[in-house]
Amino acid sequence: MNNRSFNEVETIILGAGISGLTLGHYLNKRDKDFLIFESSKYIGGNISTKNKKGFICENGPNTVLINNKSVQDLISDLKIKNDIIYPNDNNKKRFLIRKGKLIEIPQSLAQFIMSNILSLTAKIRIFFEIFIKKSDSNLSVYDFFSRRFGKEFHDILIEPFLTGVYAGNTRKMSIKYVLKKIWEAEQNYGSVILGFMKRESRNISPKSFNFKNGLSDLTNALQHKIKDKIRFTSKITSISKIGNLYEITVNNDIKYRCSKLISTIPAYALSEIIFDKKLSQNLKKIYYCPIYVLHLGIEKQKIKDDISGFGVLTKPSDNKSFLGIIFNSRIFPHVAPSEKDLMTVMVGGTRQEELLKTDKDLLFNKIISDIRKLISYDGQIIMKHDFLWEKGIPQYGLEHDYITNEIKNFEDKNKDLHILGNYVNGISVSDCIEKASKLSKIL
Ligand SMILES: Cc1cc2nc3c(=O)[nH]c(=O)nc-3n(C[C@H](O)[C@H](O)[C@H](O)COP(=O)(O)OP(=O)(O)OC[C@H]3O[C@@H](n4cnc5c(N)ncnc54)[C@H](O)[C@@H]3O)c2cc1C
Repeated sequence: MNNRSFNEVETIILGAGISGLTLGHYLNKRDKDFLIFESSKYIGGNISTKNKKGFICENGPNTVLINNKSVQDLISDLKIKNDIIYPNDNNKKRFLIRKGKLIEIPQSLAQFIMSNILSLTAKIRIFFEIFIKKSDSNLSVYDFFSRRFGKEFHDILIEPFLTGVYAGNTRKMSIKYVLKKIWEAEQNYGSVILGFMKRESRNISPKSFNFKNGLSDLTNALQHKIKDKIRFTSKITSISKIGNLYEITVNNDIKYRCSKLISTIPAYALSEIIFDKKLSQNLKKIYYCPIYVLHLGIEKQKIKDDISGFGVLTKPSDNKSFLGIIFNSRIFPHVAPSEKDLMTVMVGGTRQEELLKTDKDLLFNKIISDIRKLISYDGQIIMKHDFLWEKGIPQYGLEHDYITNEIKNFEDKNKDLHILGNYVNGISVSDCIEKASKLSKIL
């Protein structure tokens, strides 16, 4: 500390999740003067792996998609390519529930036509999509699919799929942000089917991956490179603008000034401390739904059904006490000891917010009872680990256009103040890496 009442640093990054760490890594490579402030004792944010009794449990993301070059570049840069584990072929197999039983989602058009996943009327209805005029304006996911493909298609296939990603309500989600490629296909070609037929020739099917010790291998590798630059248990309690500089207060006490400030903290956290009232009000509108994650270690030989697939997703009419289950060790065998299986049960989202208020033991018993009805298992639960994200996944609602415009206006007015994070430009880890990598180039 000098004799002024504040410290100076060129760039300050708020938050040490994957966005903040990626940004820090690239600034470090260019010898930039920067610091990262993280409110908790740990790096990683949503990426959080816990090893319990030899089971590798992911509290947050379970896989990362290689769907952009930034992800590949980061992995090569960190020299952790050899630690990557790709899922086995079971990854392609996914289940839904029909009449209380697991049913495999067809993987080809021929299988789909032959399957009884949708009624005959609903299957025929799909082909009328090419005759339906494109939408004039952005719609909710529910309205978009009901209009183009029919309600049954939405209820049986789209709703469970999006539950697996956003855990939100499809009647409130914006098609333009949540399923951007589908929206663009409709807007550009007048039909999703026609759009995808054209795109098919450029077929890019992104691969997903994890690491030997879980996704924390990625954030740990980043931390290793920039550990001197991270300030832990340093919660930012206010941000103000002083001339051309930004001043942040850490833990209501120490002040820092910088000419470049990048926020990667969640919208609700930024809304509490940002100096612009309008932006603060808009950030507050972004709803984060809660997610309870329950990991179960079980005995492989005592499972009587075939669960060799990625997992199962539920729809509201299934009346289950969970949104979905990932059969982790069936796609990544290394995450469980031999002869054991690891499952990750996801509960909550907008659909089951009330359920999360249930007493924890009662909820656990209900979940186990529902799983046993669905999957025949006569063994014990040999490992249990859980984690609650009270504010888990940000929702991209119909007002998202307006909110992102307001964020952009704010950034334009405030030079070198940037807002990153999973509520702005995409929710996935790979989106966060891409946006942080790109931003680092102009700082
Ligand atoms: C249960 C769950 C499952 C998911 N599954 C997947 C998946 O399978 N694949 C996928 O690609 N994505 C998945 N995601 C999404 C993905 O994990 C996140 O979008 C991504 O990790 C967010 O990274 P981030 O760095 O932008 O933000 P965060 O990870 O939220 O990091 C922000 C950091 O800021 C810190 N912070 C907050 N307030 C302050 C403050 N005032 N001062 C200082 N620091 C502060 C926090 O402690 C945190 O460390 C999942 C998310 C959840 C919750």
